[in-house]
Amino acid sequence: MNEFAPRSAQEATPLASGGPAAGVCWNLGDLFDGPDDPGIEAALDRSAQQAAAFASEYRGRVGELGAAELAAAMDAYEAVQEPASRAGAYAQLLFASDTATPRHGALLQRVQERGTEIRNLLLFFELEWVGLSDERADALLEDPALARRRHLLASMRRYRRHVLSEPEERILGETANTGRHAMSRLFDEIMSALRFRVERDGKSEEMGEEEVLSLLYAPEREVRRAGARSLTTGLRENARTLAFIFNTLVHDKTIEDRLRSYAKPMDARNLANEIDAASVDSLLSAAVARYPLVGRYYRLKARLLGLDELADFDRYAPIAGAEGARSFDAARRIVLDAYADFAPRMADVARRFFEERWIDAELRPGKRGGAFCASTVPSVHPYVLLNYTGNLRDVMTVAHELGHGIHQHLAAPHGLFEQNTPLTTAETASVFGEMLVFRRLMREESDPRIRLALLCGKIEDAFATVFRQVAMTRFEQSLHAARRAEGELPIERVNELWMQANQPMFGDSVRLTDDYAWWWLYIPHFVHSPFYCYAYAYGELLVLALLRRYDEEGDAFVPRYLELLEAGGSQPPATLLGRIGLDVTDAGFWDGGLALLEDLVREAETLAG
Ligand SMILES: [Zn+2]
Repeated sequence: MNEFAPRSAQEATPLASGGPAAGVCWNLGDLFDGPDDPGIEAALDRSAQQAAAFASEYRGRVGELGAAELAAAMDAYEAVQEPASRAGAYAQLLFASDTATPRHGALLQRVQERGTEIRNLLLFFELEWVGLSDERADALLEDPALARRRHLLASMRRYRRHVLSEPEERILGETANTGRHAMSRLFDEIMSALRFRVERDGKSEEMGEEEVLSLLYAPEREVRRAGARSLTTGLRENARTLAFIFNTLVHDKTIEDRLRSYAKPMDARNLANEIDAASVDSLLSAAVARYPLVGRYYRLKARLLGLDELADFDRYAPIAGAEGARSFDAARRIVLDAYADFAPRMADVARRFFEERWIDAELRPGKRGGAFCASTVPSVHPYVLLNYTGNLRDVMTVAHELGHGIHQHLAAPHGLFEQNTPLTTAETASVFGEMLVFRRLMREESDPRIRLALLCGKIEDAFATVFRQVAMTRFEQSLHAARRAEGELPIERVNELWMQANQPMFGDSVRLTDDYAWWWLYIPHFVHSPFYCYAYAYGELLVLALLRRYDEEGDAFVPRYLELLEAGGSQPPATLLGRIGLDVTDAGFWDGGLALLEDLVREAETLAG
């Protein structure tokens, strides 16, 4: 692979502040040498030419292919997409590393447009395969020549009743760029341009969304209150446009669900996740039945903060003890040690992210906020982006994203189509990695005050991942149902649905103010990927079940866990988890993880005295 290519003068951006991870930036040279690398256009051309050749060879003939020919076609279908995927991954990462350089945005747009062109050329293949009769398809799938492609081919066919004709698919694909995708992008543009005016200490300041949300984590109650008020004011000022986007997207989904014959709003997501509606319902019901645990924890938190009553803006107030900055080297050591304790092989993979510059951790103006791990293409390696400021949450983020990185790296041999898992199991290795680090920190720490702060941090993260996501899913269910029954919804009606979904989770432990009623307006998941949220709850509870297995079985569990990661998305989640002895179709399964959360709350109550 290429050596690290120094940033050209054109690419260089001034550093306002590098933070504790200054200098830790990734080397995208393993993908391409820079935005002007002629290799990018050549890769797109190669994909387009191969796609055209693929179409002229196979169009109209998929039904006639024997098993060995179909296997060869699948290999070609994958190979056609690899160069364009590589260009796509590069454009995304380059844009994320510096969104302010117009050259990067233009490259991303170019790669997306050519991607649509290539997808349109290939569309016929999946449609023809899915259009085969079950008898014909089943006979082919039983042939050993297709063993390696069996899961992928079978899982494509799960859309059999929901795909449309090729011209219809083309029209939906192309008009989505000016319809649904345009609405999503408008939401992003409004939110990133939004400035919130915060009044504190007699002064008025303007802040962006991330900054104003970070005020909710402030130790001073007045700062949290001011942040909440300012967030509400900013959202209310833009509520008409934002609510219009929501209404339009909810209606767009109603139309698409009707065209594709999905009976319920969540059906399309469940199918993509390879999970049945009954399993999702049992996950949601198990969490709702445990809502009293949320109230129990927040009553403890009110006591720890010395407050008679918690308001919504107090939920993220820090528990004293978690302060203190950790250097990036310290984070690296803690995370690598925790992985090495569990399985040296995982630490070996994780170490490569640091040593071979697969990670970008410093703070830079124009760099995307948050954190992610991108799998890119199997012939290269994953890349991690995060913004390291040195607090405990950031250490957990390093563990989290490297968990994804290890998972993706181990699963890469399955190729472009099966290296990634469905959403539901995508968070397995990341959340598991966080738990390993959390446990190690708890073992190393003897100060009861810091232990309590660590524990509360873990409980709050788990609650945000389980209960909050379940409440958000129930909100979406009621939102889509109301839109279908009542037509375009006034903002007040959506506010009401939001409060009805959230209040039961808190019971009487947190007072939800009138401000809170507006806070559905900034949640990007509702806009970009309807019904995404329950996958977080699924992932967290799954990991807690895995941890219980580990505690019971000790080292014997480790190779089986690594096999699970190596399998990537090559089998349905229920099959892979079945091999490890977990039955996610059992309605009682989810309560095992929830019981572990109760143990954590009990431990916090004991530490608090
Ligand atoms: Zn994640």
